[in-house]
Amino acid sequence: MCIFCKIVNKEIPSNIILEDENFIAFHDINPKAPVHILAIPKVHVDSFDQMSADMMQKMTPFIQNVAKEVNIHKSGYRVITNIGENGGQEVGHLHFHILGGAKLRWGHFSDADPQGHF
Ligand code: AMP
Repeated sequence: MCIFCKIVNKEIPSNIILEDENFIAFHDINPKAPVHILAIPKVHVDSFDQMSADMMQKMTPFIQNVAKEVNIHKSGYRVITNIGENGGQEVGHLHFHILGGAKLRWGHFSDADPQGHF
């Protein structure tokens, strides 16, 4: 069983922000911003690439509610999902990073040379 399935099953602890019948949101163990939460589906989905449109539709208000719950919805925030090897995905269970609590910089993609790809 993957690590996030274990979090869903409460086999390993997490700091939960919000939970409903389909999704769970908890603090990232290694935060990259003052607020760094992960929102995941309770069923195992490998990544965004495998995600159904129906799940995305349900997950959208869940993520918005997480942002409200931690009061970053007005100041702004960033939603990221890493997909596969080149996307930098380390945990193979779909998760959306919800980052906020400070003005986030843009442009930490220096390892990816955009020249000549298009
Ligand atoms: P990614 O690189 O997009 O797959 O992100 C995986 C994220 O999961 C990283 O930001 C990790 O810090 C986070 N993470 C890994 N294990 C745990 C855990 N047990 N509880 C909370 N966050 C975790």
